[in-house]
Amino acid sequence: MASNFIFVTGGVVSGLGKGVTGASLGMLLKKRGYRVNMMKLDPYLNVDPGTMNPFQHGEVFVTENGAETDLDLGHYERYLDQPISENSSITTGQIYSKLLAKERAGGLHGSTMQVIPHVTDTIKEAIYKVAEENAPDVTIVEIGGTVGDIESLPFIEAISQMSREMAEERCIFIHVTLIPYLKASGELKTKPTQHSVAKLLSLGIQPNVLVCRTEHHLDTAIKEKIAYACAVPLDCVIENNDCETIYEVPLMLAKEGLDVWVCQYFGYPAVKIDLSEWTKMVGRLIAPEYQVSIALVGKYVALHDAYMSVVEALKHAGGFHNTKVKIKWVDSEMLTMDNVDNYLADVDGILVPGGFGVRGVEGKIAAVHYARTKKIPFFGICLGLHMAVIEYTRHVLGWEGANSTELDVDTPYPVIDLMPDQAGLQIGGTMRMGAYECQLVPGTFSAKAYGQAQVSERHRHRYELNPKLEQEIFAHGLKIAGINPERKLVEIVEIPEHPWFVAVQFHPEFISRPGKPQPLFRDFIGASLQNKK
Ligand code: GLN
Repeated sequence: MASNFIFVTGGVVSGLGKGVTGASLGMLLKKRGYRVNMMKLDPYLNVDPGTMNPFQHGEVFVTENGAETDLDLGHYERYLDQPISENSSITTGQIYSKLLAKERAGGLHGSTMQVIPHVTDTIKEAIYKVAEENAPDVTIVEIGGTVGDIESLPFIEAISQMSREMAEERCIFIHVTLIPYLKASGELKTKPTQHSVAKLLSLGIQPNVLVCRTEHHLDTAIKEKIAYACAVPLDCVIENNDCETIYEVPLMLAKEGLDVWVCQYFGYPAVKIDLSEWTKMVGRLIAPEYQVSIALVGKYVALHDAYMSVVEALKHAGGFHNTKVKIKWVDSEMLTMDNVDNYLADVDGILVPGGFGVRGVEGKIAAVHYARTKKIPFFGICLGLHMAVIEYTRHVLGWEGANSTELDVDTPYPVIDLMPDQAGLQIGGTMRMGAYECQLVPGTFSAKAYGQAQVSERHRHRYELNPKLEQEIFAHGLKIAGINPERKLVEIVEIPEHPWFVAVQFHPEFISRPGKPQPLFRDFIGASLQNKK
């Protein structure tokens, strides 16, 4: 039986949470026993977000098989609790690259390459590929951007064609829209939604369901108005009110009956759904007993989306400890060895996440120094490990000017360096990516956290701890806690004489799930809770 499809578009403004809406619905369908796959179609022209500034695009989510993808894939994985493959992140850049390569190879057999049918056919092929990947009952396809954008037109056309090519009951169009509240008149306004639906209609799509983002409850009168003006049934006007945590969204959609409606539309039998575990998990997130304050020291702190998976992983860990994790966003460019106390004296734990380039690194090194010497639980991730090793070798071994060759090519102590296989590669898509094994050293914080001898974690980096300097670096208090069995690369370093000091070369945030925190995040929050002043 071929997959059914749910297409999720966005209207009025961007940032309404199409990803979370789609993922929440996917989770509800999965909990009802249906197999679900999800994908995102991004209209921008880059091949992938790997080379894009996090200020523009937020976090780059890394799949198990090492693709650099849109951050919404992170939501899909967290809600569905299943790995999503690189096929699920499609961009205009990819579609055109593929098509142009085909044209150069003579594969168009003399025809003129056009948006319709060549671009739209290539988009449809990409969608059908995901719809066959693990034989899903339902494939949820999210279209990035807002309806009406020039870039997204071929994608909208492609899904419109799909709906015409298959039986009506196999496709559902969900439009996520905004119902703004006018404070001056105390009114909720439906006009932007009406315009957005009219635009969608002009592109050949009549939405079946409207998910309405709102700050206020939508009463029946306003729902009726929306339903009438946009020609959708009343029970398909779904309220999506602002909530405390994004993990409440599935519960809200279920309360509005969206999953039941979808099952009926697809002709699925009514199966009972058990949301008790999820509801409990949400309860722990909303009303926890304790609180810790964690400093997140990075250079993109002005845009929280740049650290999406780290933030979610901290929340999952907090949920485990019945603890609210309050993040103190610390701009590493502001930090120096002299002023670090002003920023970090009041926090219970310090996290230095991944990053690229030289800006703000001295501030991160100052933060590591503070955590190490003041015995504050410390968690370093990827560039965070580099910072930890640099701090340690500079201040404990006395290696003045120790650095990563990413940040200073002429450093006298290249403690972090480029591996020979990474030299001279083009920038895009060439880092050490995806899941690799890590063998844990018994008795370490990490071994205790994982409770396993070997684990697999996702990577995205070019630089490594320099094997030539390894012996000297680890002859003192800093210790190796994890190593890659094939290439003997250092994956984890720790300081045993410290309440909790762990830095990892990989990105543990990508595999954390609500209700199933990643073990290192879990123990980092545990240690921070114990350290609480
Ligand atoms: N910039 C560093 C590298 O390329 C770290 C990357 C990261 O933190 N993801 O190795």
